[in-house]
Amino acid sequence: MPANYHTHTPLCRHAEGEPAAYVDAAIAAGWSEYGVSDHAPHRPEPYDDWRMLEADLPAYFEWIEHARAHASGRIPIRAGLECDWLEACGDWVAELASRYSWDYLIGSVHYLGDWDFDNPKWVGSVWAHSDVEDVWTRYWATYARMAESGLFDILGHPDLIKKFGYRPDGDLSRFYEPAIDAIAASGCTIELNTAGWHKPCEEAYPSPEFLELACSAGIPIVISTDAHRPSEVGRDKDRATELLKSVGYQQTQLFEGRKRKAEALQASP
Ligand code: ZN
Ligand code: FE
Ligand code: FE
Ligand code: ZN
Repeated sequence: MPANYHTHTPLCRHAEGEPAAYVDAAIAAGWSEYGVSDHAPHRPEPYDDWRMLEADLPAYFEWIEHARAHASGRIPIRAGLECDWLEACGDWVAELASRYSWDYLIGSVHYLGDWDFDNPKWVGSVWAHSDVEDVWTRYWATYARMAESGLFDILGHPDLIKKFGYRPDGDLSRFYEPAIDAIAASGCTIELNTAGWHKPCEEAYPSPEFLELACSAGIPIVISTDAHRPSEVGRDKDRATELLKSVGYQQTQLFEGRKRKAEALQASP
């Protein structure tokens, strides 16, 4: 049974629900472990309107403790953050890493320069006027640099750039292959993030083609639902498990104290 490590809390200002409801949903779904990974603060503040502030960190630690108290041994509760990969973020991520006994840090690319390209508010404006080939080229170069940084345990939603369905023409492996090389060299784990199934792209992140390349390259993987409400914690578990098996994965990963170990990807009942 896989764990589900990419989930949010109301502290990021666009998620809802109490710790108990998230934990109950994780137990009901049969995830082996539940991890919290809300959008990390970033300086200078306020960086944007969709993350916690540095001053929210104590409340975040409390939220995790509430989840642990509610779980009371029924499911392990892991502590993480979804950090943004931004130029020159290394010192800040290292400082965040020292603030708590994290089990893992997720690195995500949501920004190209100062453009948060996955924000729906840009669909009719910036996206409509962008050269998709150029945007994808910049995105994948940024993603490879994030892998090479060595700052993160898990790399989030690998092809998030397709969220609104903007994809270049032709075979996309020309984008995937250099990124796969960088990720494999880094030793990082990637996630199969099922939120994409519920977005305009109608495909989990990353694509099946990317997953096949990643599996062949020996890149470890976790499944995550990127839940922003309790009802999203359990969805897609079996579908994601089947997808991973279909491309050749036989294991997922568990994280504790920023160390990982493999667990078998079992058949769904
Ligand atoms: Zn979010
Ligand atoms: Fe994200
Ligand atoms: Fe997220
Ligand atoms: Zn995310």
